[in-house]
Amino acid sequence: MFKGLVYLDNNSTTKVDKRVIDAMVPFMGTYYGNPSSKHKLGKYAQFSIEKAREQVACLINAPSKDEIIFTSGATEAINLAIKGIAEANKNRGNHIITVKTEHSAVLDTCNYLSHNGFSITYLNVDKSGLIDLKELKKSIKKETILVSIMYVNNETGVIQPINKIIQILKKNKEIFFMTDATAAIGKIPIDVQKENIDLLVFSGHKIYGPKGIGCLFINRKRKSIDMIPQIHGGGHENGIRSGTLNTPAIIGMGKACELLKKEQFSEIVKIHKLRDYMENELLKIGNTSINGGKKRVGNVTNICFNNVNNQSLIFALPNIAVSSGSACSDLAETSHVLNSMKLSNREIVSSIRISLGRFNDKRQISKAIREIKFQVKRLRKN
Ligand code: PMP
Repeated sequence: MFKGLVYLDNNSTTKVDKRVIDAMVPFMGTYYGNPSSKHKLGKYAQFSIEKAREQVACLINAPSKDEIIFTSGATEAINLAIKGIAEANKNRGNHIITVKTEHSAVLDTCNYLSHNGFSITYLNVDKSGLIDLKELKKSIKKETILVSIMYVNNETGVIQPINKIIQILKKNKEIFFMTDATAAIGKIPIDVQKENIDLLVFSGHKIYGPKGIGCLFINRKRKSIDMIPQIHGGGHENGIRSGTLNTPAIIGMGKACELLKKEQFSEIVKIHKLRDYMENELLKIGNTSINGGKKRVGNVTNICFNNVNNQSLIFALPNIAVSSGSACSDLAETSHVLNSMKLSNREIVSSIRISLGRFNDKRQISKAIREIKFQVKRLRKN
């Protein structure tokens, strides 16, 4: 099925690694016990989940596995972190700072809170997609309880200066820092202890794991972080996220993290080379530019082919899977990320996102370059 398709939409989702599938399958059949049950089957599921939690913790160098909370994905983890912190700390303050280019999971959660007594500051970005640290400093008030800034943007690959942001926030110990690292994990090594990150979120299906699983890391070793649960029930995950744990998905996420821990350094280099090769070739078309500055991860190219409609281009490339932006936003909408980077509407509707991953090779990338070059030239003639 779909033979010959070159998949270059890895920021939307990734193919599940065969080694991940092999680890998951026994937990759909043989080891089906409820991890909360006290019999052998339950205990084995519970033991395996704790092993997976360790694998996840290890990838980001969390001080302990007990600081990882499994959720149904990054969206839920973001909701839990932002609403959970906001509700638990509303007596201290009602101000949250985030960025205009965040994923809709963050923006919509903040928008919800803005209708429920919270005030939100949305930081601007410059043409290269970066926030202005002076604007961040100026935005901090005595009511500020949370700053939520994504590590890497999912549409452009732009890396925010997380270390500098944390340096600024260090002076205000009462402000929690949370980062959506969904587009960063596996593309840039992350060490939550070294970087002093309070809260971090990511998802299984962007790192060759299954869909419907994600996690929230809460750095309770560093400071006490109060959080109100958003899903109530049986008290799972230390009472923070109730609901029977999704054993196969958790095992899959654990395995995906274990593989990344071992392979991410060589994988990052390999993908970066392929991306640069592709970018250089596509820029040769002319009247073409990269969206985002130099500070970008090595797997994404958000590229503008002037005078080419992105939907027409995607349609003309049935065997090359690319996208016009985040899979989570309405196609009819123009990208809020590129819009915040002050691109004109004409530039935005001429831009596509190409995101590479583990299973891409030089042959595929050469094929994609050939077809994109051909179609861009053809569409410009029309
Ligand atoms: N944040 C970012 C940066 C993302 O790219 C995505 C997925 N598009 C999410 C959050 C939401 O992740 P999930 O699909 O696991 O809910």
